[in-house]
Amino acid sequence: MRSDEHDRLYLSPPHLGRHELNYLHKAIEDNWVAPVGPNLDGFEQDLAQYTGRGHCVALSSGTAAIHLGLLLLGVGPGDEVIVPSFTFVATANPVRYLGAEPVFVDSEADTWNLCPERLREALTERQRLGKSVKALIVVHLYGMPARLAEVLAIAAEFGVPVLEDAAEALGSRYRQQPLGSFGALSVLSFNGNKIITTSGGGALLTDEAAWAARTRFLATQARDAAPHYQHSEQGYNYRLSNLLAGIGRGQMELIEDRVKRRREIYALYQELLRPLEALHVGPAEADDVRANRWLTTILLRPEHTSRTPEDLRQHLERRNIEARPLWKPLHLQPLFAAAPAYGGQVCADLFSRGLCLPSGSAMTDADVRRVVQALRETL
Ligand SMILES: *Cc1c(COP(=O)(O)O)cnc(C)c1O
Repeated sequence: MRSDEHDRLYLSPPHLGRHELNYLHKAIEDNWVAPVGPNLDGFEQDLAQYTGRGHCVALSSGTAAIHLGLLLLGVGPGDEVIVPSFTFVATANPVRYLGAEPVFVDSEADTWNLCPERLREALTERQRLGKSVKALIVVHLYGMPARLAEVLAIAAEFGVPVLEDAAEALGSRYRQQPLGSFGALSVLSFNGNKIITTSGGGALLTDEAAWAARTRFLATQARDAAPHYQHSEQGYNYRLSNLLAGIGRGQMELIEDRVKRRREIYALYQELLRPLEALHVGPAEADDVRANRWLTTILLRPEHTSRTPEDLRQHLERRNIEARPLWKPLHLQPLFAAAPAYGGQVCADLFSRGLCLPSGSAMTDADVRRVVQALRETL
């Protein structure tokens, strides 16, 4: 049992460096475990500087950041929010926390992200139906930048503010500009399997000082300026702890190394899997972007194989290798059966043919070869 556990290759496990402990030590030595503190300020500065954003507020999760971001954009009961169907459920859940309804839009085949044509169709029809579309969430799935120029132009044309869910995309760039800096507000996640982690955490980024201040206010129970506990608005307990921010500071020292290694792993998979006609590694990167390659993803070619992604996943599992299906599109989830959807065939097809391979930045080339060998056996 023990040696099996030791041998297991996980999808994207945490990869700690050498300095996380220094930041934790300092916080404990200084008795600065709570509430806020120097690690939190430092981590926020690191993130703002790295993304080129004016302000950053570190929060307890990416989901909390999406929740507060939508609140800042005025989303409330009866409103609608455009959400890509092809994403993790955490992108859409906060829409419902606020009593609003998601409207799902399909992917396009090149980036797997929001399709500009379907987006225009959705916004045109929602407008014609007299719906109140308060926000649009753009996601960069698996770290691949969405078609931002088109998406932002269409959003501006319809007067809909954009929230960028860059939870999977720290370290990616679009036309030289870091993801996490597009739209009115951006969200990051430091969940355990993301490219850097604080064990759990997130951040909301913006260029508006007033929005950052309001985020801090809402994330700490919306306490009015008074010596006693005075409250005029509903608040939340969403702030990241100073201890976890210390882990984040150590992780941010290494972000460029982590991106470099994930990209190398992707390139090695691509090279070693090229001879296999039954599958292909992708999506490909356009000339004007850099994807962080958070996860390496493959698509089966049904014209060359009868194996399904689930066959592959089970075979890898027998070799003690963790692989996962792509995100199941949200328009196909029972939770969102009643939500409007525009298109959906593109992401449903990707889901039916795709698989995420182990991609952690601590993987060795030999680990990648082991996964490739297991795939060869079954194809
Ligand atoms: C991980 C993730 C989130 C949520 O982040 P948490 O920190 O886990 O709450 C949101 N959106 C996407 C696309 C994600 O992958």
